[in-house]
This record gives sequence, structure tokens and C-alpha cells, in this order.
Amino acid sequence: MKQAPVSPREALTEELYGRFSWSGRWRQRFARFFHTFTWLTLLAGLGGIKRAVDFCLALVLITATLPISACVLLVSRLRDRGALIQRTRRAGRWCEPFDEFSFTSSPQIFSSLPALVNILKGDMSFVGPRAVSPGELTPREREARKRYSARPGLVCLWWIRKRANIAYSGEAASDVEYVEAQTLRGDFGIALRAIPALLYGEGVAVTQDVVSILDISIDNMTMTDALEWIVRHAAAESPAQICFVNADCANIAYRKPDYLAVLHAARLVLADGIGMKLAGKLLGREIRQNVNGTDLFPRLCESLCGTGAGIFLLGARSGVAEKVRDWIAEHHPSTLVSGYHDGYYSPAEEPEVIGEIARSGASVLLVAFGAPRQDMWIREHLANTGVKVAMGVGGLFDFYSGRIPRAPVWMREVGAEWLYRFYQEPGRMWRRYFVGNAVFLWRVVRARNRGAMKSSQGGTRK
Ligand code: UDP
Repeated sequence: MKQAPVSPREALTEELYGRFSWSGRWRQRFARFFHTFTWLTLLAGLGGIKRAVDFCLALVLITATLPISACVLLVSRLRDRGALIQRTRRAGRWCEPFDEFSFTSSPQIFSSLPALVNILKGDMSFVGPRAVSPGELTPREREARKRYSARPGLVCLWWIRKRANIAYSGEAASDVEYVEAQTLRGDFGIALRAIPALLYGEGVAVTQDVVSILDISIDNMTMTDALEWIVRHAAAESPAQICFVNADCANIAYRKPDYLAVLHAARLVLADGIGMKLAGKLLGREIRQNVNGTDLFPRLCESLCGTGAGIFLLGARSGVAEKVRDWIAEHHPSTLVSGYHDGYYSPAEEPEVIGEIARSGASVLLVAFGAPRQDMWIREHLANTGVKVAMGVGGLFDFYSGRIPRAPVWMREVGAEWLYRFYQEPGRMWRRYFVGNAVFLWRVVRARNRGAMKSSQGGTRK
């Protein structure tokens, strides 16, 4: 048997032998090949890089959280003698059934720790469509079939959007969006976005229809409800005004009684932005969805398509409304644009602009002058325009014309669209967001503490 080299000189000789002798070189090559092969086999066995990352991360997390799991199990054992781990039947990848593990009794935050074992086993992934019960989403439809091509995840895109109040499309559609765009980097982004989503709290199933925030009665609708309402009223007899209210609007209404009066008189007041959601949470009156003009607009174009109801675009700089008309023609060619006009005209030209809207025969008027001017303008001139539904939409035309880019979806999902707006126009936006948002939340907390908030007690509006 060969003796191990003892002196540095012998070690050096051994190294040189390894480097330059024929058999030494082959020994090295084989060792390298074996090393690579072992890893590749392991990766292939695990089902790819995503699976390998899931496996390693789950192993690390299980080890790191062992003391917590041990404590939870010990406390549960001392409390009662029932099963410590709960098994819930789920439909996995390709609808393969599996049992999802969770603690039977533990604080909410730790209840899913045993699901790390599901990830280790390959039943689940960290990121993927929600693990549904068998039969909950049948794979008959194409969308649902697609969602089952991915392993269910602890965190899914739909869950994040629901928490940020922007889950406008159905769960299956959001799953398909995830599956089609799935990458390791994308998964990492979704996992990061889950952190603020945790802070926003659970999405709301049942809540009040009208929520009062700083004396503004908010119609607590989802995007779908609002669209149905608009399409219905576009064919109605009497004209209706819709206002979108965000934290900044609430601050303005606090200072300007005439703007508050406009909000009180509007037929529909919709909650816009993460500030309103947080206010609702603070008041214990959850806001169902973030129904803002910018997200509503493309859906409105789609809903009005084929109804014969035309849209008039009023506002923004010269040439901008025209580009929005082009956007509609490109994305919703069957939607009727009755006319457009920029928002920089003299007071003397106002009667002519109103006449133009009336002659256009439009049913829906979008006014982009910025709040509160747009809402007050609508209140004053709605009856003369001949339209059935009018709404103030702020900077919407700037976004759809491409003049100002909108925040990427991931920023909207973490409720940070305002941060992006600040980054675009810091000089104008710093006061609105950094001072305004803080003042707004402070007013909400103060109103809650004083008990001065008018409770709508689940009533209906006007
Ligand atoms: N605007 C207008 N006429 C004016 C002043 C402003 O049409 O006299 C337009 C402006 O070009 C912009 C929109 O109103 O497109 C205001 O956008 P902003 O982002 O300020 O509105 P917000 O969403 O903040 O209410």
C-alpha cells in the first residue's frame, strides 16, 4: 500500500506527479468529471435548477427553524393530545394529489412551517400557483389546465395582488400569467414582494358597501362592480359623476369644503390607492379593491366595446389625448372614441369645448385636469355636456399616451406606485407623498381615536 507523503518535499513530489504524469492527469480528469456528474445527476433527479434551489432552501429553513417547530410541537402536545400535524388533501402538479402539512395549533405565522417538508419532497415549491383542494379548480378549462403544469407554491402572484387590493383578473388568469412568464429571477421577485404583502393583511371577503373615511363616503366596490355600474349608467337617463379618491384627494377635501361637497354629491366615489386601503384597515372597515382610474381605463374600453357608447377624452397637454385615442384604436379597435380635446384652453373657449362634447354624442366623459379641478369642473358642467357618466382621471392620459411611464407591475403589487411617481417628479410629489400621506394617516388615526368617524353601518349610498 502506498504511504501518505510526510515531508513537504514528498507532498510537492506527489502534487507534481498528479499534475504532469499521464495517470495523474487522468485521475484528475476523472475526479472532475465525477464531481460534475454527481451534481448533474442530483439536479436532474431533483427536476431542474428551480427544484434544486427549492430543495436546498427548504433544507436550510427546516434546519434553521427546528427550534421553533420543536417549541410549537411541545406546546401543542402539552395543550391537548390530538394530532400535532394537520394534513390537507391538495391537487398538486398535473393534479397529482398530495397532503399539505401544517401545524394543527400554532400562531398563524408558523402554521405553514411543516409545508417546508412538502417542498423538500417535491410536492410544492416556494413560489407557484395556490395549492387548491382537489376539484376546486377543474383542469377542464385551458387556463386551469395551464396552472397545473407548475408545482403549487407557498406564495403565489394572486395572493400578493389580493393583498395589495389589485387582483382585478381571476385567479386562473393570474396563474397563467405566472406560468407563462416563470423564471428563477421572477420567482425571487415574487418571494420578495410577499414580504410587504404580509404586512398589508388578508384580502377581504365580506365588508361594508359604503365606508366612511374622513367624512367621505366611499363606495366599497370591486373593479368588476364599478365597471358593471358604469356600463349600466352609460345607457341610463340621468347623468352621473364618479370620483376617484386617494389620500391626496382626502387631504384636499379636508381643507376645501367645496371639493368635499362635490364628493358628497357624486353618485359614485371609489377608493384609489394603498393609502385608502391602509385607512380602511385602521378604521376596521376594509376596502375591497383599489379601484383607480388608470387600472379601470383599459377594462372600461373593453366593457364599452360593442355597446355603442362612445368615450370623450378631455384634458392633458396638446396632442396627449390624441395619442390616447390612438392607444384605444390599437388595443380596443371596436371601442368608440367620440372625441377629444386638450386641457389647456382659455375660459373664453370653455362654452365651445362643452358644446363639442355635447355634439360628439359621447356617453362617457373622462376629464384629466388633476384633482380637485376636474371633479369640480364635472360637477359644474355635467348637465351641459350631454354625457351619462363623467369621471376625473388625473394623469391617466399622460400614462396611456406614453408621455409618462407608469410604475412597473411589481411596484404596484407592493403598493409602491406612489414611490415611482415621486421618483418621476420629486419636486412636485415630495409634499404630496411624504407629508400628505403621513398627514392623511395621522388624521385617520385621530378620527378613529376620537370616535368622530361617521360610521356607515353597512348602509347603501344616496
Ligand atoms: N392638466 C390640464 N389642464 C390644466 C392643468 C393640468 O389638462 O390646466 C392636466 C395635466 O396635463 C395632467 C393632468 O391634468 O395630464 C394632471 O395630472 P396629475 O398627475 O397632476 O393629476 P393627479 O392624478 O395628481 O390628480
